[in-house]
Amino acid sequence: MESIKEIYKIGKGPSSSHTMGPKKAAEMFKGMYPGASSFTVTLYGSLAATGKGHMTDVALIEALKDERSPRVDIIWKPDVFLPQHPNGMNFQAFDSEGHQMGEKTLFSIGGGDISEDGRRQPEKSIYPYSKMKDILGWCNKYNSYFWEYVAQHEDPDIWDFLYDRWVVMKKAIEDGLDHEGVLPGGLNVRRKAYSYYQHAMSYQNTMQRRGLLFAYALAVSEENAAGGTIVTAPTCGSCGVLPAVLYLIHTQYKVTEKKIINAMATAGLFGSVIKANASISGAEVGCQGEVGSACAMACAAATRLFGGTPPQIECAAAMGMEHFLGLTCDPVCGLVQIPCIERNAFAAARVMDCTQYSLMSDGSHIVPFDTVIEAMKRTGHDLPNLYKETSEGGLAYLVKKKE
Ligand code: SF4
Repeated sequence: MESIKEIYKIGKGPSSSHTMGPKKAAEMFKGMYPGASSFTVTLYGSLAATGKGHMTDVALIEALKDERSPRVDIIWKPDVFLPQHPNGMNFQAFDSEGHQMGEKTLFSIGGGDISEDGRRQPEKSIYPYSKMKDILGWCNKYNSYFWEYVAQHEDPDIWDFLYDRWVVMKKAIEDGLDHEGVLPGGLNVRRKAYSYYQHAMSYQNTMQRRGLLFAYALAVSEENAAGGTIVTAPTCGSCGVLPAVLYLIHTQYKVTEKKIINAMATAGLFGSVIKANASISGAEVGCQGEVGSACAMACAAATRLFGGTPPQIECAAAMGMEHFLGLTCDPVCGLVQIPCIERNAFAAARVMDCTQYSLMSDGSHIVPFDTVIEAMKRTGHDLPNLYKETSEGGLAYLVKKKE
């Protein structure tokens, strides 16, 4: 299993698979043909179906266009799914006389990663185990926590790396609470984070904490929808859940930043196990792979922060995913706004429920985390394409932009 660093990427929203991945692919292709006068990019399948809403074209143009290559043409083929992966893109480079200099097909396979054959390349494995059963066995054997397992296998700079991501997460919350107005894209969705924050501050105790949690998750997801800078956790569309939970616990329960960073290591470990054994891509397995994974990661972090044992942490993460199984990806008009933004807020609330539920148990439960992840993978592959980031089914089918 690869480093947990692969889970936490800093970048601009709104979509890890539809903006971060294509931008990375475009930068790589441009690097191969620095003298090209123009580029043509053909987008296929899910990338073409929801690419306009996800600002894929903006990301591609930002990466390819400059004084030397002033022309970038984008061709959209939403009905053509390349057999390797639903998020295909073909790049062509041309010289000043219009002769093709070269071409390449690449795939955006989720979480900002790209691939030449649509499959995840064999990871640079740094962990001996990729199943939670084995990692939990290690924790029990050595009477240790998940973050200590991470510390054993990552480079020593992992704590600085996580701290940097924590700083960006906090900034996204602050920016999201500060910014107001209507989000881009034409759906007329108004940012709500600040008004939720104000309402929350007029409540007390539990009501206030729940209100603040909603406000923080909305803040980050709204920043993402507006193309702001966020940390994938594990994707852009699901980037509001973990920061909201961590920030609430840090500020309301006076938990130190050192503990927060340890909890991010725990969350990253659970995210990496999901990525290694199933998928975190909405285009591959639906929203259960994005918001479901974010919920499971944040459950692990929160249970750790409230003093849970490794079995209780594993139990909370299993519940966090189990009750999102089957969740479809159906963003209205291809924008990462409806249902995505509020889904992050509700997932954050579910984290606190799963955490308490698990802390009230001894952590023993019948369906282990690994089995839930296997079920998620199978369910995702059984879902028809219209529920996997194509904006053809569910809410996206029924709710249209008002002209
Ligand atoms: S519905 Fe879920 S998976 Fe789909 S774009 Fe929104 S957050 Fe991502």
